[in-house]
Amino acid sequence: MGYMHKTFLSGNGIYGCLHCGTHFAKKDKLNSKQYNGQYGRAYLFDHIVNVRAGEEEKRAMTTGVHIVQDITCMECNTYVGWTYIKAFEPTQKFKEGKFILEKEVITDITRDWVL
Ligand SMILES: [Zn+2]
Repeated sequence: MGYMHKTFLSGNGIYGCLHCGTHFAKKDKLNSKQYNGQYGRAYLFDHIVNVRAGEEEKRAMTTGVHIVQDITCMECNTYVGWTYIKAFEPTQKFKEGKFILEKEVITDITRDWVL
């Protein structure tokens, strides 16, 4: 494993890791709050940073079968959600390449980074 450079997001509205404060996503990349994760409510993002993806696996969800990878915080290794690699239902194709972050493990950390 090589050194992974951590990305710092700037501007208003940043979600980050509840445990270590690593930046994950800007609020303008938030696609939907109407998702369910392992811990309850989860958010769908178009793009996030500073996470590691695990093994690809096939998972049956309420919206059909998907190929997903769990994602963990690059800094503290906490499980934070998953990314959709492939959806089999035509109506779910829009989720491919997008990311789920569990609401329970992210926090709005914007205020900590405003100088
Ligand atoms: Zn973290």
